[in-house]
Amino acid sequence: LGFMNRKIYINGQYFDRENAKISVFDHGLLYGDGVFEGMRIYSGNVFRLQQHLERLWESARAIALTIPMSIEQLTDDVNATVKENGLTDGYIRLIVTRGAGPLGLDPFRCVDPQVIIIADKITLYPESHYTEGLKLVTASTIRNHPAALSPRIKSLNYLNNIMAKIEGLNAGCIEAVMLNHKGEVAECTGDNIFLIKNGVLTTPPIDAGILEGITRNAVLELAVAAGIETRQAPMTRHDIYVADECFLTGSAAEVIPAVQIDNRNIGDGKPGPVTLQLNEAFRKLVHQS
Ligand code: PMP
Repeated sequence: LGFMNRKIYINGQYFDRENAKISVFDHGLLYGDGVFEGMRIYSGNVFRLQQHLERLWESARAIALTIPMSIEQLTDDVNATVKENGLTDGYIRLIVTRGAGPLGLDPFRCVDPQVIIIADKITLYPESHYTEGLKLVTASTIRNHPAALSPRIKSLNYLNNIMAKIEGLNAGCIEAVMLNHKGEVAECTGDNIFLIKNGVLTTPPIDAGILEGITRNAVLELAVAAGIETRQAPMTRHDIYVADECFLTGSAAEVIPAVQIDNRNIGDGKPGPVTLQLNEAFRKLVHQS
């Protein structure tokens, strides 16, 4: 199916692209009130679907949103939507909105959450970004304070990240590093971050105020399996400046080398050997599971 003929799932029914619509009174639109997941399809399988759904349910619980179906039912429906669209490799956007309600904030007056599944081909970053690495800039916008809106909630309110993304794009970078309220490195606007220094792999801990990325966890497991020393420890921007290697992870981005930050080379300014090793291990993993 071409992208114009995609079948979009809304609450158990499929719609053509032009008929896939939700209310302008949906609080997902009015307030960013809702949660979502972004997942990859590799060789016909949704990578770590169970983990994505568990995170979706946790995000929903955190905002007191009841997803109107069982996790088993949604598992089946995600897989069915992939089949319906004839995809063996692609991307899935799974969204649960608060639903339509009066114009006020009150989420409890929205009684009909909308479950939406879009499965499509993915537009990748240009291949050169993977082979040559990308450039980063440190954003002045800090990541949401966890006590304001926890970055662990994958909510429809992405403005914090978008503010940093604008800074990145204005500086000619497709990703930007976000620091937390303590000045420590948190994550990028849509990706987790890893450093390698003297053979040790380090990534910020969850309590630095980050999304617990599913790709992040997969890469940590692969590193342990490969006998690489791994740490989840606070880091500063200085640690990126003096790292040997840096890479980012995300369902959409996968494992992508970062070779510059704030106009300074990271290491020798080329993707490093540990990054390449983990990228290769990741490629193997996604096509076998
Ligand atoms: N951090 C943020 C802010 C993100 O939006 C994403 C991608 N959804 C990630 C990290 C990476 O998470 P995952 O590996 O689960 O896609």
